Amino acid sequence: MNASTPIILAVDDKVENLDILTSLLEDYDVRDVTDAAGAWQILDHTPVDLILLDIMMPDIDGFELCRQLQDDERTRTIPIIFISAMSDEATISRAFEVGGKDYVTKPFRPLELLARVRTHLELKFLMARLHNLAYFDSLTGIANRRRFFDLATALFAAPGDLQAVMLDIDHFKQVNDRHGHAVGDQVLRLVADTIGDRLPPEAVFGRLGGEEFAILVPSADPDTVLAAMDGIRQAVADLIIPLEEGNLSCTISCGLASRTANTGNIDALLHDADQALYQAKGSGRNRVIFRHIQK
Ligand SMILES: [Mg+2]
Repeated sequence: MNASTPIILAVDDKVENLDILTSLLEDYDVRDVTDAAGAWQILDHTPVDLILLDIMMPDIDGFELCRQLQDDERTRTIPIIFISAMSDEATISRAFEVGGKDYVTKPFRPLELLARVRTHLELKFLMARLHNLAYFDSLTGIANRRRFFDLATALFAAPGDLQAVMLDIDHFKQVNDRHGHAVGDQVLRLVADTIGDRLPPEAVFGRLGGEEFAILVPSADPDTVLAAMDGIRQAVADLIIPLEEGNLSCTISCGLASRTANTGNIDALLHDADQALYQAKGSGRNRVIFRHIQK
């Protein structure tokens, strides 16, 4: 068993049932508990991949625990296979209604249960992969355009200070033209890492496309963000990328804008930041410009 061994949580009030499951699922990392409270203790700090859930249990039964799991954002996507002695149609259909993904009757056929466990784990990992492909930039690992705008729209809807930064890598086309796209990709990754490492945890950072990035920082004043961005600009300028043909370095230009009472929506805020970026480019690059809006 290693770090990538799937973790299965088995919940059943009868210890002898748990023993059967644990020995059957010996290739997995099985955590077994006898009630809902025990299940939550595990779920609070373990990234569980699949739950095998009994229905008839004292206190909180399997249906109620399943409902709780569906209501919690942290556990909603974990597939649940009900395992129960009850085989009437009403119970089985209710199990699916409350959010179960599968239903196996006791006594179960071991190979069938193993096959269902494998299938639901495969589906779960595929869904996670699709989610990553849909929302994260595959080159840099940061939020892609779609995810950035999802998060940005939510941030804009919340009250309080909000600073926006648009930035791009100076003369990036020349990097690709002179050194090839592999080096260009290396530069993009390195610059994204350098920026991401220096941003406060509440910042939203995304790659909008090509060499263009955007950052939103909530609950911060413009001077703080201006100083932080200048530190980041310097850190990028200090990067050295060793190539066979000699060391390569690069710089970024950044435009900063604050949300004001008159900023209508997130697009308007990013547009203001983009205007500042345009000024930074026009005045020599490798700089951070804060756009003061007279409104
Ligand atoms: Mg039971």
